[in-house]
Amino acid sequence: MNKTCYNKLIFEVSQSGRTGYSLPDNPWPAPAAIPQELRREKAPQLPEVDELTVCRHYTNMSNNNFGVDTGFYPLGSCTMKYNPKINEEMAALPGFTRLHPAQDEATTQGAIELYYNVQQSLAEIAGLSEFTLNPYAGAHGELTGLMVIRSYHQSRGDAKRTKIIVPDSAHGTNPASAAVCGLQIVEVKSTPEGTVDVDSLRAVLGDDIAGMMMTNPNTLGIFETRIPEIARLVHDCGGLMYYDGANLNPMLGVCRPGDMGFDVMHINLHKTFSTPHGGGGPGSGPVGVRAGLEQFLPKPHVSRSADGTFHLDTPAESLGSISSFLSNYGILIRAYCYLLSMGREYIPMAGKLSVLNANYIKERLKDFYQLPIEGLCKHEFVFDGLRPEYGGDHHDPAHVTTLDVAKRLLDYGYHAPTIYFPLLFHESLMIEPTESETKETLDAFIETMQQIAREAQSNPELLHTAPHDTPIRRPDDVRAVKDGIFKMPAID
Ligand SMILES: *Cc1c(COP(=O)(O)O)cnc(C)c1O
Repeated sequence: MNKTCYNKLIFEVSQSGRTGYSLPDNPWPAPAAIPQELRREKAPQLPEVDELTVCRHYTNMSNNNFGVDTGFYPLGSCTMKYNPKINEEMAALPGFTRLHPAQDEATTQGAIELYYNVQQSLAEIAGLSEFTLNPYAGAHGELTGLMVIRSYHQSRGDAKRTKIIVPDSAHGTNPASAAVCGLQIVEVKSTPEGTVDVDSLRAVLGDDIAGMMMTNPNTLGIFETRIPEIARLVHDCGGLMYYDGANLNPMLGVCRPGDMGFDVMHINLHKTFSTPHGGGGPGSGPVGVRAGLEQFLPKPHVSRSADGTFHLDTPAESLGSISSFLSNYGILIRAYCYLLSMGREYIPMAGKLSVLNANYIKERLKDFYQLPIEGLCKHEFVFDGLRPEYGGDHHDPAHVTTLDVAKRLLDYGYHAPTIYFPLLFHESLMIEPTESETKETLDAFIETMQQIAREAQSNPELLHTAPHDTPIRRPDDVRAVKDGIFKMPAID
């Protein structure tokens, strides 16, 4: 159902004077006049359409979309796992949806208790002392965590720590968050094995280092085995260790960032804890800290009194508010539901299965796609494009690129993996299957990827011109970002 006539904007099908409703005349006197300066000068330019057109508009838009509920979505780094529907049912309970954020604490004890329980569960999973659930996303969590680190140094009167160490394999949000926090970024290189080069780390350590941000497993899906040594080096020079926990999924219930020497971290509930994401939110990026840093967390924080009641409070040296009220509360309900339905026995299973699935795909595709780093991966891995014998030699200007492969996958009904990230390779193709998928789904994807490699060998043009079967084929990506059509036509 991708007919052009159903792909028009709702403003383009608007017909002046058409309505989708009728209301009786209003018998009530007009409300007190709104002051002239507050009134709009022109009527809002809303689309004028009948009810059936509205219905088709939204239904067809939903059919043009692709999500975890539509098909396999191996988008590396994004952990597109299944979002259990019971999460949605729980988040929709009227006891939650009808609360007012300004309601008296005494009347919202259940809701605050849920918040408290999520704080506690995450602290246990992470091996840290306290959590704040306030940040709205992973990147927001990074910024919050870095602000905690800055508050810590400030509280000791140490103003010279203006630099933060970030490995070259880091997710782009790491240097971005550090820059927003006013820190200067010091990059450290990776070794050929894809892990942090400890010697180049040593060379940059000094009394101007506020801390180091690390992801484990890193964005190549490789477990950083030298974390205890790295943490010791950074701590010895007075810095703190920040853990980007967006990749926590494979470690769930198996090992804990707190035990490895990390001081501050964030978790992406919208990745690891099964709440839906994509398209910009809503998300949630809780931040955890080790004992001794709790006082810097943002407000509000939920604590439990000796009499068993729950309260919103402000940590002693709080860095202040970073979100409104209890943040994206509905996401917390979904994550809590996931935590309870998985329980202590099955949470570690999720991580292990995600690792098994990733390794299964990697091993069955590495004869077709270039695997730059051999060995066991965690929940995801990165190919460097097609192997040369399948047309992937990037020294050849006519080679079949990772973009070509990704576009061809769309013809077969798959969401493409992450491409050209991380920046360590020329033709990065990053695959993360998650634990949710059946072996049959993984096998079908593997066979499709093998088929695409054979097509690349026998008919490269087919790939250069893919996709052949989607409503939009090869948009100018830069233009689509810079000059997208997201809003109503201008009012003239
Ligand atoms: C997704 C991700 C982030 C950012 O999370 P957002 O919620 O998208 O802001 C940071 N680091 C890593 C490793 C990630 O995969």
